[in-house]
Amino acid sequence: MTSTRSFQLIFLGDVMLGRLIDQCFPTHVHELSEGRIVEQLKQSDAALRSYGLASPWGDTLPLLRSADLRLINLETSATCHSIKWPNKVFNYRMHPANIEALKVARIDYASLANNHTLDFGEAGLAETVKTLRSAGIHSAGAGLTREEAQGPAKVPIEANSRDGDQDHTIDVFSASDHPQDWARVPNFHFIDYSSATKSHLHRIINQSNKISKSSLKIFSIHWGPNYSWKPSEEIRDLAHFLIDECEIDIVHGHSSHHVQGVEQYKPGKIIIYGCGDFVDDYALTSGYRNDLSAVWRITVNDMKQAPDKHDLVPTKLEVFPSRIKDFQVQLLNKKDNDHRWVCDKIRTLSQDLGSTSSAFLGEEGQLVFELYDK
Ligand SMILES: [Zn+2]
Repeated sequence: MTSTRSFQLIFLGDVMLGRLIDQCFPTHVHELSEGRIVEQLKQSDAALRSYGLASPWGDTLPLLRSADLRLINLETSATCHSIKWPNKVFNYRMHPANIEALKVARIDYASLANNHTLDFGEAGLAETVKTLRSAGIHSAGAGLTREEAQGPAKVPIEANSRDGDQDHTIDVFSASDHPQDWARVPNFHFIDYSSATKSHLHRIINQSNKISKSSLKIFSIHWGPNYSWKPSEEIRDLAHFLIDECEIDIVHGHSSHHVQGVEQYKPGKIIIYGCGDFVDDYALTSGYRNDLSAVWRITVNDMKQAPDKHDLVPTKLEVFPSRIKDFQVQLLNKKDNDHRWVCDKIRTLSQDLGSTSSAFLGEEGQLVFELYDK
């Protein structure tokens, strides 16, 4: 098996550009009380007075743009619809015009299976899906139909360089284990940990294989309770099932609000249990440091298995620690105590999950896990 070229895929956790962040953008939905809060904040914070569509990403933009593909969990609806899903504590939306913020960072895929895409009902979800589509951003996990929700999104990745290099298609599925209330919405991909869910996942992933073979399979999941360092046994069991029985290569987990460990489950297979909150306006929960997160970059190599058969194999995971401040992400310098906090936390939690190779610090201060013995 020989390796030709490689691609870099970036994974981010929750990207919540609604509520106060939406009010900071020049165009925003009409929310009087949130608008007043932002006007007050701007009086003492000069950076917020010039907040624009590139601002949420802060100094991570060059890193994001340099990758071949970028995948996020979009933790908000993008809609002007104003009728809230009833009896919910938080209902997030951003103005559809602010989808431009995702385009600034060249986001390729947005997971819509989470506890906020239906915050403004089915009408709000429909506008969110259409807004992403018109911006050329792929999505799955929720959609206009059941089929769109269950996916996969077929995301192209172009080699466009040397002779003999091949373009690829990546299958991306998304699902969420909450809110329970949305299990009855057919165009929301709700899952639990039952054998019925496993049969369902096995079927839809196999079906996609029959339609067209992809080079890499990713499953992006919003799972588990908030503020819990260790994934439950049922979460770990489902992650292993996706790899063992469904040919998934990368499990992209999120929802916990803070970083969790990674599991090098098998050579060339990786589970990120919790990416953390990438950017949002949330209050700080100090013990869990939900203001600290990371840019997760996975290198996949084109392994030529036969003249007409290519497969992308994850070979390296790099974790670039980051912090949210004033609704903006900053990459952390390795001299910063918070940089050490993120690295130590991910190292320890990953060891607890049985990750075998120890992670080391790369030249850019990123935590490096080798995933494949070349
Ligand atoms: Zn969530």
